[in-house]
Amino acid sequence: MGNIRLHDKSFRPFIDNDTIEKAIDKVAARINADYKDSEDIPVLLCVLNGSILFTAELMKRLNFKCEIVCVKLSSYVGTKSTGEVRDIIGMTGSVNGRRVIIVEDIIDSGKTIANLTKMMDSSGATETRICTMLLKPGCYKLDLSIDYVAMEIPDDFIVGFGLDYDGLGRNFKDIYVLDENMRYYILFGPPGAGKGTQAASMAERFNLCHISTGDLLRGEMASGSELGLKAKALIEAGELVPDEIVEGMIERKFDTVEGYSGFLLDGFPRTTAQAEALDKMLAKRETKVTGVVSLMIPDGMIKERIKHRAAIEGRADDASDETISNRIKTYHEKTEPLVEYYKAAGVYNEIDGTGTIEEVRGRVNSLMESL
Ligand code: AMP
Repeated sequence: MGNIRLHDKSFRPFIDNDTIEKAIDKVAARINADYKDSEDIPVLLCVLNGSILFTAELMKRLNFKCEIVCVKLSSYVGTKSTGEVRDIIGMTGSVNGRRVIIVEDIIDSGKTIANLTKMMDSSGATETRICTMLLKPGCYKLDLSIDYVAMEIPDDFIVGFGLDYDGLGRNFKDIYVLDENMRYYILFGPPGAGKGTQAASMAERFNLCHISTGDLLRGEMASGSELGLKAKALIEAGELVPDEIVEGMIERKFDTVEGYSGFLLDGFPRTTAQAEALDKMLAKRETKVTGVVSLMIPDGMIKERIKHRAAIEGRADDASDETISNRIKTYHEKTEPLVEYYKAAGVYNEIDGTGTIEEVRGRVNSLMESL
């Protein structure tokens, strides 16, 4: 189970379906025990839309005669409870003279349940009990006791198993919680420092989406796209491609990628303008760069490493001495100032990039675990 994305937000797995089903088994068993000798036909009041799935699952497990009535009474707009109960759409049947079990998906402040209980009284119900799939005990402040609770959760915004975020997410069989902490790491360093080599294992270990702007651009070049053609001459000369091209690529990834706890940016940002653009993209998402992992190797080692890579990967921009020298020059002139930029932001972390791949990996992992 990975993260899911609904509208502009990411949610991480929280309660799996098996746990939910088992909790419903238990709560249904308690209700069955309490109603086993009833001579009347109690009514389950399904509070639309959120408790559709829970009501269905609960009802399947009940072994006494019962009926269902639906009511719509929603108090959620977006991710915050407004505290106001809105959109009252009447009941689909009568509860007059009947025992009622209100079936809710989630109870937090308790406003909804207070209103519903009053509504049951004025509609002639002879007894009202409350059953909820989820209760946020930290938010619930009413004296009214809740008879049946399947699961208790902290005060988080959740979706799935009937619960939605602005209409979406009800159909997931597991429950997900809002993941406000999408992480954004920058893998920094001169060309040949081993960023690409370390990125794969970092991405896997920390469930990050690895975005290498160099790889994306090489992909464009290989496909012969217009963008690839534009980039080719610059890349092969060891120059940078225009900021807006790479910024667009990064933002498209942020908007579309799902299932990760964050991103690992490799080869981006490479200029102060790109760093500022990244800050803006993250500000829009109400977040910031989580950390910069800077792999440092001495200048003398850069050429040696690139030549070694050229023999293995055959990259066009690794081939000529002149291109390599220009990339190193471009790095010092345009990219290195970002060290100060990120030091000032308090997110810069430098690692010794010399030694074997495993040695560097060990340093990277212990740094990442501390961030
Ligand atoms: P890399 O694979 O990261 O070494 O990138 C290869 C080449 O792609 C660079 O030398 C640049 O020409 C281009 N490139 C990659 N990322 C960027 C970026 N963030 N800004 C501008 N050009 C980039």
